[in-house]
Amino acid sequence: MSVLIFVDQAEGQIRKASLEALSYGVALAKQIGTTANAVVLGNLAKNAADLGSYGVSKVYHGESDTFNTMDAQAYTNAIMEAVQKSNAEVIVFSHNQTGRAVAPRIAAKLKAGLVAGAVALPDTSNGFAVRKSVFSGKAFANVAITSPVKVITVNPNSFRIAETGSETAQVEKLDATADNAKVKAATVNKVQGEVPLTEAEIVVSGGRGMKGPENWGILEDLAHSLHAALACSRPVADAHWRPHHEHVGQTGIQVSPNLYIAVGISGAIQHLAGVNRSKVMVVINKDAEAPFFKAADYGVVGDLFEIVPKLTEEIKKLKG
Ligand code: FAD
Repeated sequence: MSVLIFVDQAEGQIRKASLEALSYGVALAKQIGTTANAVVLGNLAKNAADLGSYGVSKVYHGESDTFNTMDAQAYTNAIMEAVQKSNAEVIVFSHNQTGRAVAPRIAAKLKAGLVAGAVALPDTSNGFAVRKSVFSGKAFANVAITSPVKVITVNPNSFRIAETGSETAQVEKLDATADNAKVKAATVNKVQGEVPLTEAEIVVSGGRGMKGPENWGILEDLAHSLHAALACSRPVADAHWRPHHEHVGQTGIQVSPNLYIAVGISGAIQHLAGVNRSKVMVVINKDAEAPFFKAADYGVVGDLFEIVPKLTEEIKKLKG
């Protein structure tokens, strides 16, 4: 019995959200007194054995060029091979795009209970209960998994990455390749900004108050100065001011950064549904009655076209 963590990579680099899931899985293995192993697919810029420094004993590596383009079915087949080889009892994913696509397939194949979007380690004192946020971050639920095999996806930015030392892990190659997995669909082009939105620690988001796409330069400057990802409200994406993959909210992407800066966004309930898991929210709006101020930790009442460039200037000064 063991814990198996799926470690996601993009262009050979391990994703930050996956390292959080990895640390979660290693801590869980320690808690239940078992070993932690990882599975990684595609070509890595670094040696797969280096994942040992996060506390895993073994890394199952599916090294095939075709794994560099994500196909949920091919990934599922390869991960299933690693599950069987490691005799895994708990399988952990990040709650990112790949984890959300693959974890339910693994759970269905293993007839395992799945908790999506865990925010803390399971309580194993009496069963196996996993804490997750519900109702768009308004409440928490402790969900018990009663099946022998368990699958968990971990919310990005909910668990700290912990390097445990400089050990190297044993690497075992997987037989599965994307070629023999009857691939029916593959990701051919990943649209991504400077910082992936779901993994960003800081998000700078613009709404209809920005007046038009030609004004986004001031938000790009602010985002760049903070190494932040850009996001927008739904009407902004609907009007084609910004691409749809930046739209956050009930019908868009859900984010949980450490800092969310909302610029010219009124704070409608459907927008808040996607952002209210942020640790700190700062709102810049010229209308002191805007509903967003009720949800915000800090608010600036004023004209964004004056405030944002000044804010960027001050941040640049602080960073030298
Ligand atoms: P507005 O509500 O028009 O607000 C613009 C704000 O900018 C105002 O508060 C204004 O005071 C401020 N402003 C204007 N000029 C300036 C200035 N110069 N300086 C400072 N502030 C300024 N919305 C989402 O965002 N995400 C979703 O996922 C989503 N899903 C939805 C699902 C459904 C079923 C429905 C019905 C709606 C959904 N919406 C969603 C839409 C949502 O209800 C709001 O209409 C939308 O969030 C408003 O976007 P906004 O805040 O950018 O625009």
